[in-house]
Formats: sequence, structure tokens, C-alpha cells
Amino acid sequence: MEALRDAIVNSAHQLYASLPAHGKPVVRSNGTPEWTILSTISLVDCSNPSTESIIPISLGTGVKCLPYTKLSKYGDTLHDCHAEILARRGLMRWLLYQAQLYTRSRSCSDEEGTDETVYLELVNGRFRLKGNLQLWLYISMLPCGDASTFYTSSHQSVEEASQWKEADSRSINQADIHISRGRNGYTALSTLRTKPGRPDSIPSISMSCSDKIASWSILGIQGGLLSNIFEPIYLDGIIVGGLDTPSSVNEVEWREKIKREMERSIWGRLESIKDHIPDPYVLHRPAVHFSSNSFEHSKSTLAKTPTVDSLETSPSPLSISHLPFMPASTTRKGVKPEIIADGGALGHPWKKGKLIKEKGRSRICKLALLGEYERVIANLDPDQNYDLVKSQKTFYDYKHNHASKYQLVKSILRGIPKQGNTLKGLESFDEILSTGIADIPGSSLEYPAPIPPFKGWLVAGKPFESFTASGIIP
Ligand SMILES: [Zn+2]
Repeated sequence: MEALRDAIVNSAHQLYASLPAHGKPVVRSNGTPEWTILSTISLVDCSNPSTESIIPISLGTGVKCLPYTKLSKYGDTLHDCHAEILARRGLMRWLLYQAQLYTRSRSCSDEEGTDETVYLELVNGRFRLKGNLQLWLYISMLPCGDASTFYTSSHQSVEEASQWKEADSRSINQADIHISRGRNGYTALSTLRTKPGRPDSIPSISMSCSDKIASWSILGIQGGLLSNIFEPIYLDGIIVGGLDTPSSVNEVEWREKIKREMERSIWGRLESIKDHIPDPYVLHRPAVHFSSNSFEHSKSTLAKTPTVDSLETSPSPLSISHLPFMPASTTRKGVKPEIIADGGALGHPWKKGKLIKEKGRSRICKLALLGEYERVIANLDPDQNYDLVKSQKTFYDYKHNHASKYQLVKSILRGIPKQGNTLKGLESFDEILSTGIADIPGSSLEYPAPIPPFKGWLVAGKPFESFTASGIIP
């Protein structure tokens, strides 16, 4: 296991090292060094255990997300640019590409030189990864939110803790919504949290990476749109780097404790609903491992550099998304990594309320994924009753296919969005809803499901997903 773990981490670090410096953390002109988080999703071919082959298919870096005031209704920006979220979006893009290879090789079987996917198979109208393949997530640091609550509180300075106490008055908590902003209330475990940011910043409504990764343990990592054509795809393992042991504690016991925290957070919180979800969805419990290989641009590596004062470091404002096995779609994009700033391509500043031109968009934004999705379903067997392309069909329409088990599982996990429940501090954004307990439509459960463990999840919802693949809001 150690060998596999180390090989996955090494391949991630090598892939990162092979990228150009542009987009990576820099030392600013005032001498402040920047840091970031690295994440990859790798395929592991287990068909021959002695020669496990590891293919890092998607890489992401970054620690930023957009405040709720900058969310776009066209699906043309990336709201959440934390490394592991970008890695996951890249995986979705790669899955759609593999599905296109599959349908293309079927529709022109006589043609020579047609690429065929060696990773997917289509069974009963749904794609899935071939049985010998595993998916592993690597993150150079514990995911933000619940999984790192205990760890961060053990390392947090008194000064930092008091900043968050002061920020409590600006929190988006409400009595009936069990959700905390960023690092508020760090004594509370198993609470949903939004992304951390500076305590004095405009809040983000993006949920923390711990909460999102936990959702993948039951909904799969493929998301709602792809669930129409893919079986749920679960992570087999998660490797986390960058852990520091406080000097006063026993290292072995400390690591055990952090591991239990991670497991509690990414699937333990969902045990209450595991017997209530329909096939083929399951509560999947990815293995958790820690790596002591340090990532060159992590905060903890900088802190160990003798010349760097750890208080004088800054998070990088940029993100990278890299899909090393995607062919060039245009000469500009190619297999080159994308550098993302402010949710769009670096060098293409955008204005809220206007569709961003294609060259200013990331190829992993919702709008781009929708276009790729439509290309796949157009070539699938119509008899299989895929929710076929209709004119003016929106991202939201595809995703909320009400016959889908995905939506049922999601409502068991989160409850359903509550209308008219305006959040304190977000009054002018009444589209943003939190979820709560309600009758679950389409539920054929024989006995009532427990309280949704992720009740209170914030959703930007329909107004932010009502765009078509051509970027029109009908
Ligand atoms: Zn995060």
C-alpha cells in the first residue's frame, strides 16, 4: 500500500514539476512568497498488481473561490477554484471525452485509426470505468472544512482564532440552518461549512471541500449532469500530504487521530442514511492515507524554509487546471495547462451579466461541460431513453431529470431547497437557498429516511443553471 501511495504522490508532483512556471506561486515584489494547494485524480490499473500503472488524468491547483456577489448565470465561470474541486471538474471533462471516443468508435467502426476508449464500457445504457481501474484523489493538504477542523484548531494561533470570533457577527448562520462560515466555531465537528476566506471578506457560498468530498462518497464524483449517462463513480482512495505534527504530541497517535477525523468527515457523517439509498448508489468509504512527501509550493513547505517568515506568506491568486491526456481542441488550448484567475482564463477579465467569450472561459466550466455532454448524448442509442437533446434545454433541465435516482439520493443527503428562506446577510440574493427537511418527491421509501445529514447545504440553484449549451438563457 505504501508503494502505491508513494507512486501516486510522486506522479502528481512530477506532473506539476513538468508544467511551466506561469500560473504557479511566485515570490512577490515585496518579497512575500506565495503558496497553493495541489490535487490530482489518478487512474490506477490494478489488473496486474506487481506493475500497477498510475495515470494522473486531472490536475488542479488553487485556493480561491468567487464571492457570492460575482456568481455568473451563464455557467461560464468557475465559482470554486480549490485544487481538489478543479481536479474533479477536470475528471468530468475527461470522462465526457472518453464517452465521445466510445460513441465515435461505434459509429465509424470501418474507419481506420479511430481511437477507442480503453477505460470505459457501456452496460445497460450507462458508462462505467472498467473493473480493473481505481480512482485515487491526492491533495497536498487536508481538505478545508470539517475534515481539517481538529487539525487547524490544534495549529491555529490565538490571534487567528479571535479574528474568526469577531467575524461571527457577519456569519450566514441562522437558527435553523446548521452551517458555519469558514473557520467560525472551531469547536464544532460534523458541521457543514462554507469555504474559508479572510474573516473580513465577502463570503462565498461554495461549500467546503470536506463537505463536497463527503457528498461524492454517496452521490459519486461524476455529478448530476453525468449521472444521466454514467453509473456512479466512487473514489477508491484519498491521499493527503502536508501534515505537521505539533511538537508536544506522540506522532503515531496524532496521525491516527487525524485519520479518524478524516474518515468521520468524508463518510462517517453519512452512515445514518446508508440503508436508505437506492441501487446503484451506495455509501462508499474511500481509503485514507497520509504522505510525508512535501509539495514544493505548499504553505507547510514554505514554513520550513529557514529564510521565510511563515506569517509573511500569501495564497496564490491563480489556479491551474491540467488534463495531460486530452487532445488539443484548438491550437490555443491544446494539452497546455489552463491558468485560471477570477473564475475565468487569465488575461480575459470579465464583466458580470455578460456571457464570457469562449477564449476567456475554462474548458471545465459548466457551460463547456454541457456542450461536451450534448455531443455525447447525440451519438448514443436513442432507444435507451436518454433525456435527449431538445431545443433550448438548459443545464438545470438535464441535471434535474426527476426520474433520476441521483436527485433522489441528493434529497436524502441534503433535503430539498427551501423557497422563501432568505439567508441573513444575503437578502439581495434570494435565489440562494439552503436545503431543509421536506417531503421528498418521487421517494418510494418504505420507511422515512432520517434527517438529511447535510441539511443546510447552500444552493445557488435554478437561476444560476438555466443556460443552454450555446450560452443562452431562454
Ligand atoms: Zn478547499
